[in-house]
Amino acid sequence: MPYSALPTTDTLIPGCYGHPGFAPKSALYSDRSQLLKLCLPLLPTCGPCPVRARCLKQTQPRAGRLDGIAGGRIWFQGEVLATVEGADDQELPPALGSRQACGTRSGIDEHYKRGERYCDACRTVLTSSTQLQLTE
Ligand code: SF4
Ligand SMILES: [Zn+2]
Repeated sequence: MPYSALPTTDTLIPGCYGHPGFAPKSALYSDRSQLLKLCLPLLPTCGPCPVRARCLKQTQPRAGRLDGIAGGRIWFQGEVLATVEGADDQELPPALGSRQACGTRSGIDEHYKRGERYCDACRTVLTSSTQLQLTE
């Protein structure tokens, strides 16, 4: 094994490293569905990635209105289009504040679209609707 001064935990090379498909050139797509089609095959790469939360913190996809893949999500102009299987809502940045729609289905959708964590009111609705589905 080659000598490395770094602890092994710091030598992680994520699956996306050096892959241009994670930030596709704007000439390759003109709308969200084209971007989604380009990125969906690559999204599973983020599934086993142990640095998803750190990736989101560093790339700040919502603030930077990112197009591409970061932190296990496909982003278009800073909005989430898809999330990798097994990703946790707690990885996302917290919501800036609660909105009028919070505690309803559209409040939940708004958090999702903005790529932020659910607030307590929305999480309660989400949990109870999931439980309802499970008991049906
Ligand atoms: S979570 Fe971030 S660092 Fe990990 S594979 Fe996905 S884009 Fe790369
Ligand atoms: Zn909410």
